Amino acid sequence: MGRLAKVLLCTVLAVCLSGCAPKEYTGQIFAMDTFMQLTVYGDGEGVTGQQAMQSAQSRVYELEAALSVTRENSDVHKINGSCGQTVTVGEDTAALLGRALELCEQTGGALDITAYPAVQAWGFTTGAHRVPAGDELLELSEKIDYTRVKLEETAVTVPNEMQIDLGAVAKGYTGDVLAAHLREMGIQSACLSLGGNIHTIGTNPKGEAWRVGIQHPTTGGALAVVEVTDKAVVTSGNYQRYFEENGETYWHILDPDTASPARTGLVSVTVIGTEGTRCDALSTALFVMGLDEGSEFWRAHGDFEAVFVTDEEEIYITGGLKDSFSLLEPYQELEVRVIE
Ligand code: AMP
Ligand code: MG
Repeated sequence: MGRLAKVLLCTVLAVCLSGCAPKEYTGQIFAMDTFMQLTVYGDGEGVTGQQAMQSAQSRVYELEAALSVTRENSDVHKINGSCGQTVTVGEDTAALLGRALELCEQTGGALDITAYPAVQAWGFTTGAHRVPAGDELLELSEKIDYTRVKLEETAVTVPNEMQIDLGAVAKGYTGDVLAAHLREMGIQSACLSLGGNIHTIGTNPKGEAWRVGIQHPTTGGALAVVEVTDKAVVTSGNYQRYFEENGETYWHILDPDTASPARTGLVSVTVIGTEGTRCDALSTALFVMGLDEGSEFWRAHGDFEAVFVTDEEEIYITGGLKDSFSLLEPYQELEVRVIE
């Protein structure tokens, strides 16, 4: 090959490689009480990656406006102020509420969207933390019962003395909605970081699995990574929201039976699966169930994988993660037990 031909070939290859490497579009927003980062690689069909990413951001704000428990005029706020009357909600709220009620049932009530009065009593929504007395907790626990929530199409009825909160599933649902929205626009590679929820589309721009970090509960650094494609990775941890009083720590994930922080010896549960809503629901529910019951639940269902971290720094992974889970420095000496 002549010198000129070689130079031309190299130039064509260089242009092709830089042209083929998908461009990265990143946007950060604060929504649903957390920082979110949406990263889209490459352009869609008839839209640039930037436009797709911005359209996804607008969708987050729409969902937040409907699903927020604290925002006035949200559907959830309307339901909670309905005094037992039936209210009509938007399609997103109805869709998520319907799915959440199914997941409350599947988890035997470990997930219960009517825990809100208890969440409030502990001060987790306002930041005015307090430890409710035993009789107050008993009364609160008696009011937690998702089976009393009625949903017909977009009509919702919640008994007067009860209130709901979709906080345990809203970010997972947001991941599902955004992933579908981006795919519809022709986006084939994206990583959506929605607080403790990661939702991935396709593979990373190099065509490899995404490496998603799992946080160490106390140091805040990355304890481990899981390699995933087209999956959600959702963590519920007792270090995400908590307060201390008289030497005791109280966190935001409540056991619906006691209306008090779920104490099962776990510090975090990460759930990996295709549906963000289910992963989000299960990370909360498995935290409430604890390691043994959570492992049983995985054996019975098997359509997701999980990582359990205990307060003794023990790490348990479900069988399907054997090849895709690895510890990071300086935690590589820790033992990883596999649940079969
Ligand atoms: P997550 O961070 O997804 O585990 O969700 C925790 C949030 O869901 C809390 O901040 C509460 O608002 C709410 N919550 C707490 N315990 C429960 C529970 N057992 N079932 C449903 N929602 C809960
Ligand atoms: Mg959750």
